[in-house]
Amino acid sequence: MSEGWGGEGWVGADSAHMSPAQFREHGRAVVDWIADYLERVEDLPVLSRARPGELRERLPAGPPEQGEPFAAMLRDVDELILPGLTHWQSPNFFGYFPANASGPAVLGELLSAGLGVQGMLWSTSPACTELETHVLDWLADLLDLPAAFRSTGAGGGVLQDTASSATLVALLAARERATAGAGNTTGLAATARLTVYSSSQAHSSVEKAVRIAGVGSANLRLIDVDDDLSIRPESLAALLTADSAAGAVPVMVVATVGTTSTTAVDPVRAIGELCRRYGVWLHVDAALAGTAALCPELRWLHDGVELADSYCVNPHKWMLTNFDCDAFYVADRAPLLAALSILPEYLRNAASASGAVIDYRDWQIPLGRRFRALKLWFVIRHYGAAGLRAHVREHVALAGEVADWVDAHPALERLAPVPLQLVVFAHVDGDVATQALLDAANDTGEVFLTHTRVRGRLAIRFSIGATLTRQRHVRAALALLDRILGPSATSPYPVGAMP
Ligand SMILES: *Cc1c(COP(=O)(O)O)cnc(C)c1O
Repeated sequence: MSEGWGGEGWVGADSAHMSPAQFREHGRAVVDWIADYLERVEDLPVLSRARPGELRERLPAGPPEQGEPFAAMLRDVDELILPGLTHWQSPNFFGYFPANASGPAVLGELLSAGLGVQGMLWSTSPACTELETHVLDWLADLLDLPAAFRSTGAGGGVLQDTASSATLVALLAARERATAGAGNTTGLAATARLTVYSSSQAHSSVEKAVRIAGVGSANLRLIDVDDDLSIRPESLAALLTADSAAGAVPVMVVATVGTTSTTAVDPVRAIGELCRRYGVWLHVDAALAGTAALCPELRWLHDGVELADSYCVNPHKWMLTNFDCDAFYVADRAPLLAALSILPEYLRNAASASGAVIDYRDWQIPLGRRFRALKLWFVIRHYGAAGLRAHVREHVALAGEVADWVDAHPALERLAPVPLQLVVFAHVDGDVATQALLDAANDTGEVFLTHTRVRGRLAIRFSIGATLTRQRHVRAALALLDRILGPSATSPYPVGAMP
């Protein structure tokens, strides 16, 4: 029997590998360290105050010649690394969008690392592929996604690292379909001009995908938005008509459900109907907001998603599954596989040849892949559908409190609707005052908020979604903002008296 890493039977008595006994000891220390961290993270300054170069000045110039004790590494994590971290798992983290983690997810991740399997082909670890297919069907059930996205139909789901990869992969499949393969074989020089459409509010990953896929930023057409910052279908229709008349080939429209700036929701049904009429691929980017569809009362977000050719949601944002984990679904896997499947001799195997299995290497950019499904499986089983819904509902309710507080505050003005967990607001006195409020709040270390621009105006984003955030943290943040705004602008609706 092998004695594991460092065991005598496997690598020799004088091995530098960590022995199973040492791994047990240090592994327990790391798990304890993480548990201690989560207990105290609330009290750490949320935003790192490190200056550029500060960590590197404190690290040795070169790597050690002789191995070091594990305890020295863990000590350095405390002394060197922690001061250079912004605490994304702090309940007082209200910046960007959440990147929430949870116990079951972290433990699933640890197991995945310990198993160290490569899931590129079904045959390289059958359970890795089959668990992923199964969990993505579960997730489709939980979010009430259309039947075409299930593995039982023509499409199916796959875990990507990020929504950015999902958008790129969607575009490669769309390009394959729109050019009947020519885009991938003879190259784009041989095709008509290709065009892609999204709103001005879409994530920067859309432009990145357009660049990588060779479509070119100049052929990304930005669609006008309405007062609520969602796509105006008439503007999309006008552009599709004009571009087609000019000889371009519209390849893909990206509709965003929950934009990064303000969680605006594009009208997916109207966009989907236009896409059907013009034969254009519709990709729905629901990176943050898709998680809300766990709750039936929030499923209006997905209205029209059955018209989409592809869809993605990031469990690594708001579904308690630590980064990286993006669930990507296609309604028809044929163009995706046509775009990305290349079979070299060394990957040929009987299972793939039989056609009875899924080889996820053909659904993504890299060949190799991690066993990501374990952490999502653990999260879904630990919380259950009810637990996941409760998490979403709590944050949506808290965002409602923040919105009410902003609306009642004479010094503040809300700049966008609040469909979910994000409140976007500004100081009534303008950008300088808004910046001062944001800086003053972040300087305390008690909270971390980030900013955006809405129709040219600087705005503060109050984004709720960290695993540990409870009502008391949100109320403490509002009390802090109230204190900074001062007596001349005191809310008529004091935080302590909120319903
Ligand atoms: C966060 C976000 C992305 C990018 O997410 P990654 O998974 O980090 O690539 C894309 N689209 C939207 C709408 C987002 O909010």
